[in-house]
Amino acid sequence: MTFLVPELTQNGFEHISFFYDRKTAIKAIVSIHNTSLGPSLGGCRFYPYASTDAALKDVMRLSEAMTYKAAVADLPLGGGKAVIFGNPKSDKSPEKLKAFGSFVERLGGAYITTVDSGTTSEDMIHVQSQTSHVVGVSSKHGGSDDPSPNTAIGVFEGIKACLETQFGSPEIKGRHFAIQGIGNVGYRLAKLLRQAGAKLSLADVQEEKLKVACKELDADQYTTESIFSVACDVFSPCAMGGVISQESLGRIKAPIIAGAANNQLADASVAKAILEKNILYAPDFVINAGGLIHVALDLKILNMEQIEEKTRKIGQTLKTIFERSKATTTPTHQIAIEFAKEKLH
Ligand code: NAD
Repeated sequence: MTFLVPELTQNGFEHISFFYDRKTAIKAIVSIHNTSLGPSLGGCRFYPYASTDAALKDVMRLSEAMTYKAAVADLPLGGGKAVIFGNPKSDKSPEKLKAFGSFVERLGGAYITTVDSGTTSEDMIHVQSQTSHVVGVSSKHGGSDDPSPNTAIGVFEGIKACLETQFGSPEIKGRHFAIQGIGNVGYRLAKLLRQAGAKLSLADVQEEKLKVACKELDADQYTTESIFSVACDVFSPCAMGGVISQESLGRIKAPIIAGAANNQLADASVAKAILEKNILYAPDFVINAGGLIHVALDLKILNMEQIEEKTRKIGQTLKTIFERSKATTTPTHQIAIEFAKEKLH
């Protein structure tokens, strides 16, 4: 964990907690990056991390991105995130989720948890039994439910802004999209695009699910690697982070990268390489803010009408970022961070 101290100080993290519960053997980390605009909020990821270092790195980067996401979306919230070690298919249990709820409760409201990869709105019912600092709980238990549909709507709006910037028209009909990951967000996004007349190429590690989706949406089926090289208009990462690297960028043929995945860029140098390749990149924490906007309903920060309006505004925010990027020849990712920092100050 040698990187921890420099990362903490350089990037201004406020608090990191490691939790272990003897009874259930659950191991979790909560990272609170910044609470200057409000309590930190971010999903809880259940994932079989290869090492503690890998989990720590992931939770810290994700919590920092949540700070920027909330700031750019003009929400009175800070950035936080949680990770639970384990395979969500075999290791998750109501007892572990309850233990996680008690960890969150111990943080006294500085961190509000919600759904992320490997957790569901149903899981949040168990978390809610131990803490009130949870949003996105199943509607059967009074919550705002799964944020994924609104994330997909926000990405769809963002994609229209990308098309308009790159091609002069937001028209989706006839455009070709390559989507990597057809989970909660990716599948819904694919459906929205297909309904608008798009041609689709899809990839997922879950082959059976992929086959069914391709048949339903009249899409071409690709492997998780071959999807990068599809000659299309938009490459849309909707699975895990870190997929845009110097290496994968060499294979991407699309002039636009716009998708839901968090932390898409493998490292900071990729942002510059994207600009040099004349690819338009929609910064992840701007285009995927629909989920965060949705859970603001539970906190009574926004009503339904305001949620719809804010989600539509994602496209406008992206256009402003693209204009500033063009005027200053600066990567869109860097401009988006500058935008967030201006709001934080
Ligand atoms: P999910 O777990 O439901 O879906 C991810 C999908 O990607 C799964 O179908 C999985 O099989 C597939 N996958 C995993 N590795 C892959 C690979 N290498 N290649 C192709 N497919 C792969 O997750 P989700 O909720 O749809 O979220 C997707 C991404 O969007 C995540 O990075 C998440 O953090 C981010 N995000 C989600 C939301 C939300 O509201 N759910 C909000 C903001 C950001």
